[in-house]
Amino acid sequence: MTAKQKKIPQRLCLGCQAVRPKKEMARIVRSPEGEFSVDFTGKKPGRGAYVCPEPACFDAAVKRRQFAKAFQGPVDAETLAALREALFADGAGQRG
Ligand SMILES: [Zn+2]
Repeated sequence: MTAKQKKIPQRLCLGCQAVRPKKEMARIVRSPEGEFSVDFTGKKPGRGAYVCPEPACFDAAVKRRQFAKAFQGPVDAETLAALREALFADGAGQRG
């Protein structure tokens, strides 16, 4: 087996500004219809933004209004809350 080294796509986290491999990031996407969702497959159409899959990074991105920047328009608080829940829904590791 000859393993050619593939170039790994990297993305910037909107929260902590770290650059990490795309597949390690959580992708949030706005569909062409304007609906926001969490994209676990990385294949949904639309404009995407990336954060580390950590609540702290998501929260930092929210605080700095990075999502509004990334999506070139405001993202309302309800939507952000829903996205946050979708990302971290299992809640098992949730710490105050
Ligand atoms: Zn981060």
